[in-house]
Amino acid sequence: MQRREFLKAAGLGAAGTALAAPAIAQGAPELKWRLTSSFPKALDTIYGAAETFAKYIREGSDGKFDIQVFAAGEIVPGGAAAADAAAAGTVEMCHTASYYNWGKDPTFAFATAVPFGLNSRMQNAWMYFGGGIELMNEFYAKHGLVGLPGGNTGAQMGGWFRKEINTVEDLKGVKMRIGGFGGKVASKLGVVPQMIPGGDIYPALEKGTIDATEWVGPYDDEKLGFFKVAPYYYYPGWWEGGAMLHFMFNQAKYNELPPAYKSLVFTAAQAANSDMQAKYDAFNPAAIKRLVAGGAQLRPFSQEIMDACFKAAVETYDEISATNADFKKVYEAMKAYRAEEYLWFQVSEATYDNFMFGKQRAGEL
Ligand code: CA
Repeated sequence: MQRREFLKAAGLGAAGTALAAPAIAQGAPELKWRLTSSFPKALDTIYGAAETFAKYIREGSDGKFDIQVFAAGEIVPGGAAAADAAAAGTVEMCHTASYYNWGKDPTFAFATAVPFGLNSRMQNAWMYFGGGIELMNEFYAKHGLVGLPGGNTGAQMGGWFRKEINTVEDLKGVKMRIGGFGGKVASKLGVVPQMIPGGDIYPALEKGTIDATEWVGPYDDEKLGFFKVAPYYYYPGWWEGGAMLHFMFNQAKYNELPPAYKSLVFTAAQAANSDMQAKYDAFNPAAIKRLVAGGAQLRPFSQEIMDACFKAAVETYDEISATNADFKKVYEAMKAYRAEEYLWFQVSEATYDNFMFGKQRAGEL
């Protein structure tokens, strides 16, 4: 959805242009907000997006709109607790992955990533120009929230395995730390999903309490050292082909913002959104080289595994759609968008990239 349309939908319309003198004063009040992040500071790319957002808001309001950023655990725990705190008004807003809330309703997952969903370019296209922001906000309104895109990791890695996984049979009984909705789909193939906080994954993997873990991608995974205890590094993370983060606002607090601040919030979120993807694209190449030098063994998931996972994902979508009207509505919108985007992307984008990948492998770049 376009910015102008979102602002209009948010009830702004022409009000933003009525700049009588008192309106200017009202338009830039001194505000102090608190933002709780679902993430620790150690995840500097993801956590950093909230700092980037707050910085642009502060600078763009001449210091009048001040948003203090708190890491997970400082005032509110991480994960799904961040959106709960924003909805309850404990804090005015949060920075989170919408899919952390999938246990309340799986519809939350579409704003972040769903198995075999959109890549990061397509997710942006859907959100900003395909009605995604509007559709998700219809849903978020039922939970007292307003949400805006706030970062993307790009396609994540499939994660670290202690043993090689070649066939669908090999997945049976694998205890894997895998977040949310992806775990639900993987469980159809016999994977036993485990939800373990970041700091506890390494010891669980080392002891063999779990057999595998996914996290994000090379830059973030490297810091947690998984390659030392589970060397097989699989790709792609088919459950997170372009995982998008969100800024979520307490609905009443958001609605109280003057038009100028709503505009600033939208623009700062959009800046943080593109900033994060650029950082991952900048930092991952060196990180994956260091990981491989350190002993990581890169392995693509086999075609058999990918096909079986795709089938399991489609079955899961159909099952949930049968009982959840919100889920069905957003799924069908995403699905239609995905078909069109993958039609276009295979023409010029994929052809260009595939040609250039060949040149890279031939050492000609
Ligand atoms: Ca992940």
